[in-house]
Amino acid sequence: MKGMMMHRPLKIADLIAFGAETYPASEIVSVRTEGDVHRTTYRDTYRRIAQLAHGLKGLGVGEGDRIATLAWNGYRHFELYYAISGSGAVCHTINPRLSAEQMTYIVNHARDRLLFVDTTFVPIVEKLRGQWPEDLRIVVMTDRAHMPDAELEDVLCYEDILAGQPEDFDWPDFPEDQAAGLCYTSGTTGNPKGTLYSHRSTVLHALSSCVTLPGSLREGNRILPVVPLFHVNAWGLPYSAPLSGASLIFPGGALDGKSLFDLMDREKVFSAWGVPTVWLGLMNEIRQRGRLPQGFGDLVVGGSAATRSLIEAFEERGVNVCHAWGMTEMSPLGTQCNLPQAMTDLPFNERVDRKQSQGRRVFGVEMKIVDDMGMPQPHDGKTPGHLYVRGNTVTTAYYEDPEASCNVFDAEGWFRTGDVAMIDRDGFLFITDRSKDLIKSGGEWISSLDLENIVMSHPGVANCAVIAVPDPKWDERPLLIVEAREDAQPQKEELLGLLAERVAKWQLPDDVVFVDALPLTATGKVSKLTLRQRFPAGNV
Ligand code: ADP
Repeated sequence: MKGMMMHRPLKIADLIAFGAETYPASEIVSVRTEGDVHRTTYRDTYRRIAQLAHGLKGLGVGEGDRIATLAWNGYRHFELYYAISGSGAVCHTINPRLSAEQMTYIVNHARDRLLFVDTTFVPIVEKLRGQWPEDLRIVVMTDRAHMPDAELEDVLCYEDILAGQPEDFDWPDFPEDQAAGLCYTSGTTGNPKGTLYSHRSTVLHALSSCVTLPGSLREGNRILPVVPLFHVNAWGLPYSAPLSGASLIFPGGALDGKSLFDLMDREKVFSAWGVPTVWLGLMNEIRQRGRLPQGFGDLVVGGSAATRSLIEAFEERGVNVCHAWGMTEMSPLGTQCNLPQAMTDLPFNERVDRKQSQGRRVFGVEMKIVDDMGMPQPHDGKTPGHLYVRGNTVTTAYYEDPEASCNVFDAEGWFRTGDVAMIDRDGFLFITDRSKDLIKSGGEWISSLDLENIVMSHPGVANCAVIAVPDPKWDERPLLIVEAREDAQPQKEELLGLLAERVAKWQLPDDVVFVDALPLTATGKVSKLTLRQRFPAGNV
């Protein structure tokens, strides 16, 4: 027997319509490429979104068209998210840190019709325009007065598109599984692969984020998404913030510790979201100034493992650290590590032990770990295996890429994450490695994450990575690569000594290399691929 309730399609435009009506005065503050700080509210933003939607219609944008963005975090990028998807088109966010080759691949693969670009990235467009589809039109995300002298023909100005348009829009109806957004993963091997989000998956993700992270996502809170709008929808914040009434503080392009500290201090940011590398920079600044930015109390950290020392440094200063795990293919939230009530009174060290885990699943995501033969493994906190997920916010295939899609699902349709993990009896997930980052020495696995965690606890280490290098006798051996703090000179023997206290002798890196700066991927994680290319045979 079927239920007898109405079935209204879940639509992205409804999120901002709700936010504008229910929390009209909640703010969007943006550090602009023009150099100033721009302030607006959900109510006024909704009006501009309507104007933009009219403008897009005038430009002939139709349902299913891919409309690309190449931009920092700011209010215009936010407006595009809603106007594009709300109109039934697909918002394709492009990561400006991708290589020219990767960017050209994805613009052509997605067959984008329009590209909205921040003034900062106009030089990229000038360079690559000739290799992109001929009918791709370019819109610069600024006003007439700030239009760059670009060597590009037929370039449109963002504010001209909105000017004079009506301030309401009759959002079209379509099925809730209509495509809404497209994001390519940078891909450690092969070409980038596209995840195509739907209205339904995006709205469900926003709902489950609000339910799972009520301490961060609520009216009155000011949230800083350092995680970019060009990568997995800034972990869904443009959708969950208006739904919860939280204000958004967009940092633009200045993401160093000092700029972030100043912005957070001025805007009284309560909750900041981003990858560990960014928070290492902020922590340096906090140490130098001897205080936290005003109002700061909550850090959501993910994208790669947050080390114990990073979690400790913030928690010691009274900032709640929520370690989260997810993937582009999962919209992205999979787990989060705010502690359950019963664990909040644990002694500091035990709390940090817990917080180092990737946490418990969010509603709607199921997880299993399996051995090499695909047999499910117990959730006993000690048996590692390949992590698989399924749920309404998980992809079913890569966009127009049957080859990449065919190897990532098991017979029951679960998605293979490529992560190696354990799950304990309380449901806490512990990512022990990425399958491709594991080191296999003499037939035994060595976890690069474990080694990195220990080395990061050394006060002279700013950042580090452990990679596998080929070895004639053991197949692979670990190599430790270290970026020292500006004012420190950690010694090789010290670091190996620190490791020797905690891991077996055969797991110790064969060598330690010091570099000025570790290479980062387009999403701000340490690029092990680049390191493997740079040190193909170890430190020689
Ligand atoms: P990219 O392809 O650019 O790396 P994703 O953000 O989709 O982009 O990467 C997802 C992967 O990042 C996960 O499969 C996992 O390996 C890693 N990851 C994400 N969050 C965490 C975390 N909290 N701890 C450990 N690894 C993480």
